Amino acid sequence: MSINCFRSITLPTPIHLLSSIPNFTHKPFLSFLNKTSSSSSSSSSSSFVLARLVSSMSYDKELAAAKKAASLAARLCQKVQSALLQSDVQTKSDRSPVTVADYGSQALVSFVLERELQSEPFSLVAEEDSGDLRKDGTQEVLERITKAVNDALASDGSYSTTLSKEDVLRAIDNGKSEGGSHGRHWVLDPIDGTKGFLRGDQYAVALALLDEGKVVLGVLACPNLPLAPIGVNYQHSACDEVGCLFFAEVGSGTYMQLLSGSSPVKVQVSAIENSEEASFFESYEKAHSMHDLSSSIAKKLGVKAAPVRIDSQAKYGALSRGDGTIYLRFPHKGYREKIWDHAAGSIVVTEAGGVVTDAAGNPLDFSKGKFLDLEVGIIVTNQKLMPSLLRAVRESIEEKASSL
Ligand code: AMP
Ligand code: MG
Repeated sequence: MSINCFRSITLPTPIHLLSSIPNFTHKPFLSFLNKTSSSSSSSSSSSFVLARLVSSMSYDKELAAAKKAASLAARLCQKVQSALLQSDVQTKSDRSPVTVADYGSQALVSFVLERELQSEPFSLVAEEDSGDLRKDGTQEVLERITKAVNDALASDGSYSTTLSKEDVLRAIDNGKSEGGSHGRHWVLDPIDGTKGFLRGDQYAVALALLDEGKVVLGVLACPNLPLAPIGVNYQHSACDEVGCLFFAEVGSGTYMQLLSGSSPVKVQVSAIENSEEASFFESYEKAHSMHDLSSSIAKKLGVKAAPVRIDSQAKYGALSRGDGTIYLRFPHKGYREKIWDHAAGSIVVTEAGGVVTDAAGNPLDFSKGKFLDLEVGIIVTNQKLMPSLLRAVRESIEEKASSL
């Protein structure tokens, strides 16, 4: 079991207050603390005890709520996507299905987390807010969102509530938090990879929890990701068994199960040490990442395989189970990365043994609010390959800069 919410305690914390911290029910630790505090009066020993606690606090309850929330949201998105794919060409050019799925997913996640974790303060940093839905002429789409949310809740059966349109708007607006380095904040991308969603390809519901600015758990629901490994020749096929749920809690590893329900299996990133044998993921959309730069990096590493281009944080999920070895992301100048595009994915990969950094090799900092403040680019691989990847990235960036 891993426990980390004691990162939120400023040392030294009076030991009697620990039991009043929401969710702190670890009786063996409390009794250990009581014994330690009566046998030692030095603050260094209590700091030591608290440091031990920091590395062993449980987020199990939050993880269970996050899995439930993301799975229900994924069910809503799947339903909307399959209706979209069956519709005619004219309806396909209409973006309202993604609007319904996006807002519906956010409302559902917000509702489920609040319901399941009622004893905890609730803060959510999420991509959407209800501003546009409160404007004139949006009643029909709001009705569709509300129906989609209520259908998903009814299909689960564990809540006897029906949400009104106002409840849905309120749930969406719970996502207005700015995040930051103090306390706990949920971080949500209700549909990551909307372009993939509209194309009928990959997308993900990505949910993570920050505690004192650090990602402590992450869940990635990837409704179209095949259970079987995806590789260079990957093409979406109707016969694949699809729908994967990845989840990770700090210190406890990464697991994957079917979204439709199965026993979780522990996953590990690729163990490939020779970069010539590696393959790499990148965005499907060339507007999201400079494919020419990735190609130059791959060339320097001697990578022979063609890039695997898929949408969304499904890339992090696929990488965490070793489908590929490297993920390269280099947005065009001026783009600022948002925390919800990487929080869940990064812990899913790091708990599976991988490393996620910016292009300069710095760890990603999720404590600065909605944006990641980083040296352009995000790179991901296993620990063995990271030094040579960083070298190739640096050289390729320098070459690109000098050729301009
Ligand atoms: P991907 O599917 O990996 O290409 O990433 C999808 C995410 O990229 C979306 O959720 C957006 O938040 C983000 N995004 C949108 N525009 C850009 C852009 N110009 N450059 C990089 N990322 C973007
Ligand atoms: Mg996104």
